Amino acid sequence: MEQIVQQIEAYKQEIAAFQPKNAEELEQYRIRFLGTKGLVKSLFGEMKNVPNEQKKEFGQVLNAFKVLAESRYEAFQQLKDEAAGATGQLDLTLPGEPHRLGTRHPISLVRNKAIRIFERLGFTIAEGPEIENDWHNFTALNLAENHPARDMQDTFYVHNNPDWLLRTHTSSVQVRAMEEGKLPIRIICPGRVYRNETISARAHCFFHQIEGLYIAENVSFADLKQTLYYFVQEFFGENFKVRFRPSFFPFTEPSAEMDISCLICGGEGCNVCKHTGWVEILGCGMVHPQVLENCGIDSGKYTGFAFGMGIERLTMLKYQIKDLRLFSENDARFLKQFQGTV
Ligand SMILES: [Zn+2]
Repeated sequence: MEQIVQQIEAYKQEIAAFQPKNAEELEQYRIRFLGTKGLVKSLFGEMKNVPNEQKKEFGQVLNAFKVLAESRYEAFQQLKDEAAGATGQLDLTLPGEPHRLGTRHPISLVRNKAIRIFERLGFTIAEGPEIENDWHNFTALNLAENHPARDMQDTFYVHNNPDWLLRTHTSSVQVRAMEEGKLPIRIICPGRVYRNETISARAHCFFHQIEGLYIAENVSFADLKQTLYYFVQEFFGENFKVRFRPSFFPFTEPSAEMDISCLICGGEGCNVCKHTGWVEILGCGMVHPQVLENCGIDSGKYTGFAFGMGIERLTMLKYQIKDLRLFSENDARFLKQFQGTV
């Protein structure tokens, strides 16, 4: 190996002394060092003959050599280009600057897909303000002041007493729709929500939800299950299992969480499903009669169901993305991967 390293040193000196007089000399340099049969390539080929314990060191020497050879070439290439530019030659045969088309954000892709599925079931879109008051975000939904469930939805307060805050869920839009009182109600509420959370791979201080609400006479838990079965099948395809787990939310009774068998490991167990084989995708339940009454709806006559899910969660599962922060970093290398997706 020492012999090769010495040889590389000699090449480095040659590169340092290199001063091309014209374009041909620069091209000869490129062929000698960087061409497909050039020295850089052939030296990398020597790697297999180096003993294992020296591979790391040799690799570093090689990489440094490669960077040097390339940067020297690029520097002269640039000088050459500038010289050509300075002579004022206008080459009309050069291709034009391509128009770069943007791509849809994966969150938008998934939100639109979910909306299209629910629209087929007759749901319409409802929207509401992101700055909400305490009543619409908490109290009307059975989250009384000092209710422990409020701790899980700590948010950013714009104003205290009376409280104005950044909404923690889009359920506030449901409250507004119920207060309007035009029954039956069959809406989905997609939108941005906020929580006072430490930013990590799995949590952010803002994210997106899509919630649904259906209120009419004789709406039952069977309707809820069938609606959600239909949604997940349309959304994820058919090769997975679904289960409902009993849960608690102050605004629904009974309440459940819906899991699907892990799409990554097929239910065998992996990091994404924390080795359970199941991934939670949404919360749901029958609207609590007290919530209906709070919003002026006769709970003796009407029943309804509600559900809510995080769009980031759906997107991460669908595209197997492991870090939530990627969605808001505006990294073009990440976003352009969704170019061909409609
Ligand atoms: Zn898994």
